Amino acid sequence: MATNKIKWLRLELTNACNFDCSYCTEQYMTRKKGFMDIKLAKKIIDEVALTKISDIIGFQFMGEGLLHPKFNEIISYAKEKNVKCKLVTNGSLLTDDNIHNIINSSVQELYISYFTSDDHSFKIRHAKGIDYTEYQKRVRNMIRKKIETKSSTRISIGLLNTKYSFLPGMDGMDNTQKIRDDVISLIHFIKDIEKRSGVASPDQDITEIERHEDLLENYTFAINSDISVVFIEVGTWANQFLIRNGIKITKSINGHCLNPFEQLFVAWDGTCTCCCLDYDCSMVVGNANQNSIADIWNGDRYKTIRDAMKRKELVEEYCQTCRGKIDLFSFLRKANVKKLSRMLLNRKKLKYLINRGWKRFNFIQNEKTS
Ligand code: SF4
Ligand code: SF4
Repeated sequence: MATNKIKWLRLELTNACNFDCSYCTEQYMTRKKGFMDIKLAKKIIDEVALTKISDIIGFQFMGEGLLHPKFNEIISYAKEKNVKCKLVTNGSLLTDDNIHNIINSSVQELYISYFTSDDHSFKIRHAKGIDYTEYQKRVRNMIRKKIETKSSTRISIGLLNTKYSFLPGMDGMDNTQKIRDDVISLIHFIKDIEKRSGVASPDQDITEIERHEDLLENYTFAINSDISVVFIEVGTWANQFLIRNGIKITKSINGHCLNPFEQLFVAWDGTCTCCCLDYDCSMVVGNANQNSIADIWNGDRYKTIRDAMKRKELVEEYCQTCRGKIDLFSFLRKANVKKLSRMLLNRKKLKYLINRGWKRFNFIQNEKTS
């Protein structure tokens, strides 16, 4: 029995995606595209079932998990082994069959990276083979079936806010009032289905969304006990996005981060990394084909990274860049100056930005968005 549980154990079923979002490092990934061998997925599920090294397995990293041809077999196997799962999906492949499989499987948590809420903003996702109308229909169908069947799968709907993204091309969801209206429309949609299905939940205080000035990161609105809207901002992917956009970063050898103490990501080919932002697996901590998850988790490379972090030192170059300093001049040369000036000339917004501090100047976020 493992004593030190993994908070985030994630499997990348594939690094291929049917979207090509302008804010995703998918476009920079050099790893070969592929699909996880079902034997590897089952091996990890078996280990989790036996050792309980993690309470839940997430199908999340790069790519779109629902593209995996054996997705249903994998989640059915997890159910058979009593292993809870979480699925992160862009939502475009939520067909009737996939919805049925998700509802009747081990998927306890479903995170839909809905992100853009209209035809115009949907364009930044460069979706292949689906338009916004069909996309919205599929996502809403998932929500409808969840309510009608009284499924216990909890759903989080991620919505992007690009208001404080100053990099060129990082826009599309800048109008907070529009985002607010879209969320309220979604709430009415959900309340209507609840009513018709006879499962009405207590009314939430919609005015909270109306009062919330900036729908930004760290704000989650619970529509009912099982369905929430989660607001996120565009991330920098450990500053890799900035470098790709010509912004200089001075590496830092000092820093600390919780990810190596909480995360283990298994890429489709078995390569493991200790961080959700390491999209190209540059910090290889092991290979799940050759070793057990427990051995990798307690292995030498993890130990070296963690011990250094306990001393507030960063041994991995990727971490040194992630925690590095952003060169102001190269940033100003590349930033969306029109957008930035608008913010700086608005006293209220300027105050807000100062309060957030330079490090939080939106795009300094280091969260993975999907
Ligand atoms: S953000 Fe998600 S949906 Fe968009 S390209 Fe990346 S993996 Fe695909
Ligand atoms: S790359 Fe950044 S977020 Fe990832 S482990 Fe290193 S310091 Fe933490």
